[in-house]
Amino acid sequence: MQLFHHFAERLPTLCSPVKPFPVKSPRVALKNEKLASELGIPLSHLDDEALFKQLFNEDYTPSLNSVAQKYGGHQFGQWNPQLGDGRGLLLGEIKTPTGNLVDLHLKGAGQTPYSRHADGRAVLRSTIREYLASEALHQLNIPTSRALCLIASEEPVRREVVESGAMLIRTCPSHIRFGHFEYFFHSKQFEKLDQLFSYCFDFYFQACQKASNPYLAMLTEVCQNTGKMIAYWQAYGFNHGVMNTDNMSIHGITFDYGPYAFLDDFIPNYICNKSDHSGRYAFDQQPSIALWNLNALAHAFSNKLSMDELKQALSTFEPAFLSQYQKLIQQRFGFSATKTEEMSKCINQFMQLVRDEFTDYHLSFLHITEHLMDIINGNTQALSSHFEQKEAFSNWAVTYKKVLTALENDITQVQQNMRSVNPRYVLRNHHMQEAILRAENGDFSYCENLFSAISTPFQRQETLEIFMQAPSANEKGMSLSCSS
Ligand code: AMP
Ligand code: MG
Ligand code: MG
Repeated sequence: MQLFHHFAERLPTLCSPVKPFPVKSPRVALKNEKLASELGIPLSHLDDEALFKQLFNEDYTPSLNSVAQKYGGHQFGQWNPQLGDGRGLLLGEIKTPTGNLVDLHLKGAGQTPYSRHADGRAVLRSTIREYLASEALHQLNIPTSRALCLIASEEPVRREVVESGAMLIRTCPSHIRFGHFEYFFHSKQFEKLDQLFSYCFDFYFQACQKASNPYLAMLTEVCQNTGKMIAYWQAYGFNHGVMNTDNMSIHGITFDYGPYAFLDDFIPNYICNKSDHSGRYAFDQQPSIALWNLNALAHAFSNKLSMDELKQALSTFEPAFLSQYQKLIQQRFGFSATKTEEMSKCINQFMQLVRDEFTDYHLSFLHITEHLMDIINGNTQALSSHFEQKEAFSNWAVTYKKVLTALENDITQVQQNMRSVNPRYVLRNHHMQEAILRAENGDFSYCENLFSAISTPFQRQETLEIFMQAPSANEKGMSLSCSS
């Protein structure tokens, strides 16, 4: 596995060289075999001995050109220039078999110049959450960073209580965030800002570089990709929880998993982050917050683009979001035809009913999918038995049948399509809590099963059916602390 160091070599003044600090009794507890194979990384490279030699052995680490990156960010709307990789290191980039560059980033690697007195560590709980969630989103086709492996340890790490430390190797196209651009702009380090732009054009926005206005093309691409990503979050009920601009990737991928949650009941203003008292990052605020964040990024382009050009780029967010959202939601109801008024009405009616009674978001889609033939055969009871407003859902099923059969010919195919977009296994907090509890006692088998379920979310597997279950009343709607 050859490591490249393009970022470290081309942008040395935008980062600091830091080596990983070893942890006590490390062991590779989880390996993402599918990802390793996609990246062309032999699994043997992720064995304890092979991996720790590269990361922690002083005979080998002198050639490890790992760096901590400097950035800033708007946190809960407030500008904070004092951010950066405080507990993560860019190990380098690898070239995949298809020729793409992918970052390898070690999270929980110890203190860096940007740690601000914090310990530079990550706890097992939070690394498991990131490991599982990034794969869950990826398997739902939601753009995201991924996790290659998880390293457990006996390193004590103090949070509210003492927990065990862990590390995660994360992969994604790059770790460049909105906050990178904002930092060099607001600190008036315009030469470094130019270097960052030029680096991005060379490695990640090559097509934009050839456009008549490369900066406009780049900002437009970020706006559109972010819009598409948010559409996926909204369509699949994902609440990120900490959409600070330092947690927003310029690649439009889901990034920095903290107190995130998939919805249980459909509560549009659900807030997964316990520290988010005003609901700034509530589920239904995500599209407008994404646009707020893009405005913050656009500010860092303001020496390159006129006000009209900035507005032009930003105006592409909403249509990108809306068209992607429409497409995804339509698919979840089995509509492949172009949007009609009846179709939209029918979809909205169902969403309104689910929202009115706070039914489980994901199971609602699964129920329509699994009862599709009943609905077509006029048995509306089968569907309505899952809901409280029985008559309303029965009536809806009649309308749905009418609209669907007018637009689609092959209902067997429709059901197959719906099964391929409506997940049976969704990563839920109550399952994750169980996985974490057991892993903290050294047993990763439950975690591995949960990983299997979310890795094939659309495929029914007898042994994984427990992961289809929604939480009980007292397990519902957990809100999570930021500490990780
Ligand atoms: P986050 O909430 O994960 O987005 O992190 C916000 C900022 O705090 C980033 O600059 C992180 O690098 C930093 N940070 C978070 N946790 C730690 C830690 N345990 N040690 C050092 N820095 C941290
Ligand atoms: Mg962060
Ligand atoms: Mg974080």
